Amino acid sequence: MYHLKNLAKQAAVRQQEVATLVKALPTIALQTRGYAEHQIPDRLKEVPTAKDPRFFDMVEYFFHRGCQIAETRLIDDMKGKLTLEEKKKKVKGILMLMQPCDHIIEIAFPLRRDSGDYEMITGYRAQHSTHRVPTKGGIRFSLDVSRDEVKALSALMTFKCACVDVPFGGAKAGLKINPKEYSEHELEKITRRFTLELAKKGFIGPGVDVPAPDMGTGEREMSWIADTYAKTIGHLDINAHACVTGKPINQGGIHGRVSATGRGVFHGLENFINEANYMSMIGTTPGWGGKTFIVQGFGNVGLHTCRYLTRAGATCVGIIEHDGSIYNPEGIDPKQLEDYKNEHGTIVGFPNAKPYEGENLMFEPCDIFVPAAVEKVITSENAHKIQAKIIAEAANGPTTPAADKILIDRNILVIPDLYINAGGVTVSFFEWLKNLNHVSYGRLTFKYERESNYHLLASVQQSFEKFVLDESVQESLERRFGRVGGRIPVTPSEAFQKRISGASEKDIVHSGLDYTMERSARAIMKTAMKYNLGLDLRTAAYVNSIEKIFTTYRDAGLAF
Ligand code: NAD
Repeated sequence: MYHLKNLAKQAAVRQQEVATLVKALPTIALQTRGYAEHQIPDRLKEVPTAKDPRFFDMVEYFFHRGCQIAETRLIDDMKGKLTLEEKKKKVKGILMLMQPCDHIIEIAFPLRRDSGDYEMITGYRAQHSTHRVPTKGGIRFSLDVSRDEVKALSALMTFKCACVDVPFGGAKAGLKINPKEYSEHELEKITRRFTLELAKKGFIGPGVDVPAPDMGTGEREMSWIADTYAKTIGHLDINAHACVTGKPINQGGIHGRVSATGRGVFHGLENFINEANYMSMIGTTPGWGGKTFIVQGFGNVGLHTCRYLTRAGATCVGIIEHDGSIYNPEGIDPKQLEDYKNEHGTIVGFPNAKPYEGENLMFEPCDIFVPAAVEKVITSENAHKIQAKIIAEAANGPTTPAADKILIDRNILVIPDLYINAGGVTVSFFEWLKNLNHVSYGRLTFKYERESNYHLLASVQQSFEKFVLDESVQESLERRFGRVGGRIPVTPSEAFQKRISGASEKDIVHSGLDYTMERSARAIMKTAMKYNLGLDLRTAAYVNSIEKIFTTYRDAGLAF
């Protein structure tokens, strides 16, 4: 008995050793081939352990971690009559090119408030990478906006667009204001003036740089931006309205953009939740049934994520907002909460949940935690308190590198921002294409498709009737279905009946988004497996993005 126990112990130790070895394999492989030269720059050395790193440093650090994995393959794939040294130099050069922010502008302008007082407004726009144009990224209105934040968010946009194959470079803008403190008239003046300033400096345009909504902005602001651009610098440009996405439908917007990020979070989660391998790695079962979730931030992204996750069968047990948190183990109805928030301007006091009075709701047990508010909420100070099994980064940059490591070591699956919240930019891409096409999706084919489907159904019905006229077939059908009932009809199922009418714009957007999220999830899983990254999906996603951006630079020529 003792012997058996000893053997089991030894086997467990061996297993552990093999697991460690397998984890280290990519690094070992790189070292033996002598390619693993990519170093994290000295100025970022503190980032992996820092309690409160700069946001841009965080993104740069994750990028460099990806480079360390991708470098060897990039060198191997370099074509042409180059020596190994030359290849290495070229790869190094291109990776260097991908790091910094290409352009950043800081704008200050005066605002005359409704009261007659004057105030200076500060805003930024960063274009991180112009390897593809236009550049793309939201405009945020928040008091936390800073040069560092905007730069970081623009870099993240570069990697996000590449991750989901949206052919744009990354950008971001921010105005350092609390939108709740301004009247609608004041916000309109601020937005229009900011647009004019961007336009004067070449920081907006359908083929140059295309903003979208982000924190504190929505359809209304996008509509002001489109109108300002189209009536000034873009007045001779037939594509002027493609200068911004997230517009209302009657201004050239697209169905499904408002909810796109939340819907993308749902699809992103679903791709991993249905993957038995990943679920067993984190000690849970596949599927939505019985899963609970907590969301931080009940704004655009948080609300729609709640809606789709609830619809899929998961239960929302808690919501965290800046002014209070609510909790209900039986479930919170997203629609009821949305109505309550619209009426009261807060989730606090929602009658169908209890106010949460513990330390922090995000430390409570649940299957999925969805940060959908601000950056750096999960840090080295609190990562060990998280009890969720999955973290879906709906917000940009919610996890610091130090926290990321703690979570991975604790077997928590972090589905990274650059993938999971890419639904917004994906549907923005569809909106931009719609604007350039000057026709909505489905408009030209809708009726034709519907009629073709009816013809198809009618011809199936006719063939079936001919087939039934054959006596032996008739007999066998009667034996199977009985004599009563007469003709055996061919009727479309409910699902087919819905499809038969042809795909509307919404259907096309939804299926395009679903397809994008699925394809990117498969690519991330493949890379994670190839490099043995285990639960480190962030590095896998960065590696994929780096490889794609690298190829664009490599094939277009490095510098001139
Ligand atoms: P939003 O302004 O509509 O909502 C943000 C919500 O978070 C608000 O309800 C706000 O009160 C709440 N909040 C702010 N600080 C908080 C805090 N400390 N704790 C809890 N709640 C807090 O913004 P949004 O568009 O939903 O964006 C949310 C996040 O998602 C941001 O990080 C944004 O960059 C990211 N994102 C948005 C989109 C998009 O399409 N809107 C796309 C990709 C990523």
